[in-house]
Amino acid sequence: MPLFVVQEHAATARHFDLRLEVDGVLVSWAVPKGPSIDPRERRLAVHVDDHDLAHAEVEGPSDRPGRGKIVWDIGTYLDASTDADGMGVDAATAIQQGHLRVHLEGAKLRGGWALIQARLGGDDDNWLLVKVDDQHADRDRDVVADRPESVRSGRTLDEVVGNGVVRDRGDP
Ligand code: MN
Repeated sequence: MPLFVVQEHAATARHFDLRLEVDGVLVSWAVPKGPSIDPRERRLAVHVDDHDLAHAEVEGPSDRPGRGKIVWDIGTYLDASTDADGMGVDAATAIQQGHLRVHLEGAKLRGGWALIQARLGGDDDNWLLVKVDDQHADRDRDVVADRPESVRSGRTLDEVVGNGVVRDRGDP
């Protein structure tokens, strides 16, 4: 089964990176607000450069202060994509056609998800990530807020990039 991973990434702006193993690389989308398990939510997912498979386990601070990433979720996925005629297509073809449907088996994210190339603002890189309305959907739970920790270390991104020190709590 191919791999999927979601990393939370402290860079110029914080975001999540959704990566799917396709033909030996991690095809990647940057999701500014992270995934939502509410099927009414459509989350912008910006198609970015492929990463090496080894990147799926990268977690830790980077060499620049305040930056780094955690493995927010990891698991395997099934491609459930179909073409306009309802015929099954492989993930690479589905991505090329701009309409991917996957079934995730992660620690936090499970069930059906759609990735649809929306070309918002005329930009081919702009896709939407939407939870399929199945038994793993939940309109009342914010999975990003509820489960901020790394599935590898149990640490939050703040703890990782702050070297174990939780900062900016507003304490005097
Ligand atoms: Mn990133």
